[in-house]
Amino acid sequence: MSDAPTPRPPRPVAARDAGAPVASNFLRAIIAEDNRTGRYDGRVVTRFPPEPNGYLHYGHAKSIILNFGLAAENGGRCHLRFDDTNPLKEDVEFEDAIAASVRWLGYDWGAHRHHASDYYDDLYRFAEWFVAQGLAYVDSQSASDLRASRGTLTEPGRESPHRSRPVAENLDLLRRMKAGEFPDGAHVLRLRIDMASPNVNLRDPAIYRIRHASHHRTGDRWCVYPLYDYTHCISDALERITHSICTLEFQDHRPLYDWVIGKLADGGMLERPLPRQYEFARLNLTYVVLSKRRLIQMVDGGHVDGWDDPRMPTLVGARRRGYTPEGFRLFAERIGVSKSDSWIDMSVLEDAMRDDLNASAQRRIAVLDPIRLVIENFDAGRVEACRLPNHPQKPELGTRELALGRELWIERDDFAEQPPKGYFRLAPGAEVRLRYGYVVRCTGYDKDPDGRVTAVRCTLDETTRSGTPGAEARKVKGNIHWLPVDGAVEAEIRLYDRLFRVPFPGARDPWGGRGGTAADAAAPAAAVPGGDDDAEGAERDFLDDLNPDSKRVIRARIEPALAHAAREERFQFERHGYFVADLADHGPGRPVFNRAVTLKDSWGRGSGG
Ligand code: ATP
Ligand code: MG
Repeated sequence: MSDAPTPRPPRPVAARDAGAPVASNFLRAIIAEDNRTGRYDGRVVTRFPPEPNGYLHYGHAKSIILNFGLAAENGGRCHLRFDDTNPLKEDVEFEDAIAASVRWLGYDWGAHRHHASDYYDDLYRFAEWFVAQGLAYVDSQSASDLRASRGTLTEPGRESPHRSRPVAENLDLLRRMKAGEFPDGAHVLRLRIDMASPNVNLRDPAIYRIRHASHHRTGDRWCVYPLYDYTHCISDALERITHSICTLEFQDHRPLYDWVIGKLADGGMLERPLPRQYEFARLNLTYVVLSKRRLIQMVDGGHVDGWDDPRMPTLVGARRRGYTPEGFRLFAERIGVSKSDSWIDMSVLEDAMRDDLNASAQRRIAVLDPIRLVIENFDAGRVEACRLPNHPQKPELGTRELALGRELWIERDDFAEQPPKGYFRLAPGAEVRLRYGYVVRCTGYDKDPDGRVTAVRCTLDETTRSGTPGAEARKVKGNIHWLPVDGAVEAEIRLYDRLFRVPFPGARDPWGGRGGTAADAAAPAAAVPGGDDDAEGAERDFLDDLNPDSKRVIRARIEPALAHAAREERFQFERHGYFVADLADHGPGRPVFNRAVTLKDSWGRGSGG
């Protein structure tokens, strides 16, 4: 252990969460140590390198917050670099959406929006240099021979018959590959490292392949494209990145990362000090899937309403759901960063959103399942303006008025013909307080021929008006919200719930082994479907685990002020949860709200709606 002082960076989640201690993590410690020793002269330059082949998901948020956050804490910068080396899968549509999501999370790359394809000329020039040094050769084996000669974890690889081609011949072939003389797959360019290396990544990895395909940025200029491992480290070095942070699956690639840029620096082709790669554990979250491949399957199969469906674990979905950038930062700070894989329960993310929204969202009233309440001793035509605080902890946010009249909407389940034990709301003979109004006593109710309650009747106690001296002395246990029938606005409300009904969708044991909660399970990454690759434990179709009740659309009544809410404005609907005016569909004459999260964690208690 060094005796370097513990780093004390400014809080990334500042205002809303003031006072909470900042947990350090191994990356903060490494950067602090580099700053102390002056390895990079105090520069901190990170990057977030998405492949523009899909939309960003919650897992990417962890990486974005980490990379941009570490840079910001250290007065450095973070580059947004599109890793666009596969022309077949990539598109500008994705680039723009990715950039918008990073910006939505609150980050700015300044002038540093880069592309791996910006470096195609350099990458190719370096490839010729490697060939000239005898450190790379053109291999003309078939794809299956290449695969077969790679060896296994326990067996060394076999050297290619083309491994000792003379430099001049390699150079000639490489140039002809580039000139388009050969079909896809005819040759690859490989580094000459060590076919017997215990690290498979060092067994003469391919760094260029032929691909006659148009690239969304470079068009038809190239028909040879560099591979990821070669491209990434060189891009980092060219951009003078200091700390190249990636997920754990790249750990075994680190020796190759260091080899490539180390050789180039030795040859004077790159400047030192070189970037270093550090790996952290990816985000694994229960009740969702965080893999582009699976997300694509859900969209293409019509299981959700597109990439920005509020149930999707994408950042465009989160935004429509009413989740907040600050909530994601709070979440990232709470889960921390570690070097070993683990699972985070969805409730941790929901709690972070809840805590952030509780602090930031103004309060409003909505009656989701309205039933009429008639105050029999209140004259028709009489109106009493009641004052409601916009935020109980923030008086500076002011108040608004709601007009109490003879007929009100209340929630259907705030009345019971035969109240169960411990029921403190309306029931024949029972008293409740109409929030911010008066105490009323239930005198009766009406039913239709089917036995469904159509209206509840009550009388009001004039001495109990909220806010007047002595009024609160009348203690009643129930306190229900209401809206005036005259003035309340009808609205579409979308009640979203978790997309999957089990913590580990598609896993052989989707409940994580003990039939308990996901928190119990702490299932090893290999036992459940995780990232890109199919985990061995996955024997079932993850789509079978979709929650059939993840979306319910209802017609509700909302207070008049809500009809004029701006798109994306977020509110707490009192006693219900946090809601957002839908980004796409809400507008004048058509109020539409999405539920972001309930007020309390009700999952597993059967009251998700
Ligand atoms: P997926 O596994 O969903 O296909 P990906 O890794 O292929 O994602 P990229 O666009 O290559 O997606 O990822 C960009 C960056 O985000 C990479 O640095 C990657 O390590 C990081 N990242 C991807 N998934 C996660 C995750 N679940 N947790 C943390 N970081 C992640
Ligand atoms: Mg990837």
